Amino acid sequence: MIPDWAAERRRMVEVQLRRRGIHDGRVLAAMQEIPREDFVPMELRVLAYRDAPITIGYGQTISQPYMTALMAQELELSGKETVLEVGAGSGYAAAVLGCLAARVVSVEILPPLARLARANLRRARREHNIHVVEGDGSWGYAEESPYDGISVAAGAPDIPAALLEQLRDPGILVIPVGALADQELRVIARRDGNISSRVAAACRFVPLRGGEGWR
Ligand code: SAH
Repeated sequence: MIPDWAAERRRMVEVQLRRRGIHDGRVLAAMQEIPREDFVPMELRVLAYRDAPITIGYGQTISQPYMTALMAQELELSGKETVLEVGAGSGYAAAVLGCLAARVVSVEILPPLARLARANLRRARREHNIHVVEGDGSWGYAEESPYDGISVAAGAPDIPAALLEQLRDPGILVIPVGALADQELRVIARRDGNISSRVAAACRFVPLRGGEGWR
């Protein structure tokens, strides 16, 4: 039997997102719109709407839907922004951000995953405002900076200086920071020259690699 993906998506939005406090209507609509099943490996599609991360190969995962939604909500996007994502992976979070911002630049350090993200985004007809770049995103991507929002999809030992430098004023950076197995999702806001920081959630992401990551 072919699953009713739209119905699974509606259930995910209600049970995993709305009831847990995701309240931004644009974020809920984007999560309802993007077909998550198109971003997971074919043999794992039946698990697409589980309340958990799913393996996408190369030791990496597509984040839990709640984490993708929470990070997007924390960026407070209105539709006019340019957003940098570090860690394209499957391209799923980039697709969600692409619904919420004017332009998304997503950097991926593993070449086969950069190719996977591009292929998935093309198949889902989402590539028009999303640029997938192959490289070490722990240095950001200066070419298209500054960014109104930056979302880091891998856990960092500390906040990479380059990401703060490439964040606009006003701008918001969401990043998991902490030990390899246990991090906090930090929301760093720059406004009127000041920087504020708070913790939005406890979390566990795959490690950020590269020069400013775990190497
Ligand atoms: N946003 C992705 C989640 C991918 S998991 C999705 O929705 O599917 C985190 C990704 O970060 C992995 O693909 C990993 O290869 C990548 N990554 C780790 N360190 C990186 C770095 N320094 N620069 C860019 N990508 C990195």
